[in-house]
Amino acid sequence: MKKSHKDETTLVTAGREPFAHFGAVNTPVFRASTILFPTHAALKARTQPFIYGRRATPTTRALEEALTELESGTRTVLVPSGLAACTLALLSFCKAGDHIVVSDGVYGPTRHFCDTILRRWGIETTYVAPCDTAAWRKAIRANTALFYLESPSSLTFEVQDLPLLAAEARPHGIKILIDNTWATPLLFKPLELGADIVIEAITKYIGGHSDLTMGSVTANKDAADALLDMHGHLGLTVGGDDAYLALRGLRTLATRLKRHAETGLTLARWLGARPEVTRVLHPALPDDPGHEIWRRDFRGTSGLFAFELKPCPPDALSRFLDGLQHFGMGYSWGGFESLIVPAQIARTAAYHAPQGPLLRISAGLEEAGDLIADLEAAFARFAAP
Ligand SMILES: *Cc1c(COP(=O)(O)O)cnc(C)c1O
Repeated sequence: MKKSHKDETTLVTAGREPFAHFGAVNTPVFRASTILFPTHAALKARTQPFIYGRRATPTTRALEEALTELESGTRTVLVPSGLAACTLALLSFCKAGDHIVVSDGVYGPTRHFCDTILRRWGIETTYVAPCDTAAWRKAIRANTALFYLESPSSLTFEVQDLPLLAAEARPHGIKILIDNTWATPLLFKPLELGADIVIEAITKYIGGHSDLTMGSVTANKDAADALLDMHGHLGLTVGGDDAYLALRGLRTLATRLKRHAETGLTLARWLGARPEVTRVLHPALPDDPGHEIWRRDFRGTSGLFAFELKPCPPDALSRFLDGLQHFGMGYSWGGFESLIVPAQIARTAAYHAPQGPLLRISAGLEEAGDLIADLEAAFARFAAP
C-alpha cells in the first residue's frame, strides 16, 4: 500500500481516533483482562475487535499499528522488554536441530540467550564478524535457519551490509532477523532492504524518557504467522499504561532524535580532536569504516556512539567518570538525559580489541556546550589527580 505522507506525520497521526473517545486527542489507557461479549452468538463468532486483554486492547493495538506502518511491515507484536523482543524473534524462527548465524557484535544478553537456552534446546550458534560477508556465506549449512543481525553493532557500531547479507540468505530459505534499536524505524527500514523480522527495544529512543521497558517485533508478510503463533503461545503481553507511555514517546520521536543526533555528532567531533582519545566509533563520521554503507542505507544518525581512550591506569578512568555533572552512569540509553558507561566487549570472531578503555555515550537533550564543559573537566581530572 502506497503511503500518502511522511514518517514525521505518521508519528503524530498513527493509532489515534479521537472521536472514538469523546474527542480526547490520545487513545486512552485501557486496562483489561476480561472483555465481555454481548450475546452467545458473539462469543461463538469471536469477530469483535477485542477478545481478551492479553491479546490486545485499543491502547496496545494503537501502538502496534503505528509501529507496523513505520517499519513497512505486516504485523507487530509487543513484549515487556527489548530483550524479550530479541528472544521471541529467535524462538519464532528456529527449532531443535537447527543452526543459526549471529553477528559477533550483537547485544550481550541476546548472545547469552543463544549460548544457554538455545544451546540447551539443541540449536547451534555460529558467531561471525559483523561486516565479513564472506564469513556469513561460509557459515551457511544445510540446517541454517536464520541470520541474526544488529546494525550498527552494540558498543562497537559496525554497520552491516543488510541488502548483501539478505541476498546471501534468501536462496537458502534463511530468515533475516535484525535488531534496529540504534536507528529506530525512523532512520532505518530493514524490512525494505531484505530483512524478514525487525526488533526494537522501545525502552530506548521510542520510550525516550527512561521510565519504561518494552520491545516490539515486526514481521513481513511471510514471517507474520510464525511470529504471532509463538507470541500467542508464550502469552506475552504489555499493560495499557506502558503502551500509552510508548505512544506518548513516539509522538515526539522525530524531534528528539534530531536533537540527540546533532548533540551526539558535536560531542563525537570534539572528542575526536582530543589528544587523550584514540578513536571515535560513530558511523556518521566520514572516516568511520561503516560510513559509506550507513550513508547508503540510513536516513540519519541517532545519538549513541563510543570512543576509545588511550591506555591508562584504572584510577585515571575512575577520575574521568566520577564527578561528571551532566552525564549519568547507568545502563540503557535513548532517554532525554546524557549517559556514559565503560563498554565490556565479548567477542569470539575476528576482532581488533581496543587497547584503552572504550566508553559509550548516549547524547541527551541538554545543551551541547554544557556537556562539552563537563567532558573537558573530566579530562582535567583524568590528567591530574
Ligand atoms: C537495550 C537493548 C536491548 C534490550 O532492551 P531492554 O528493554 O533493556 O530489555 C536489545 N537490543 C539492543 C540493541 C539494546 O540496546
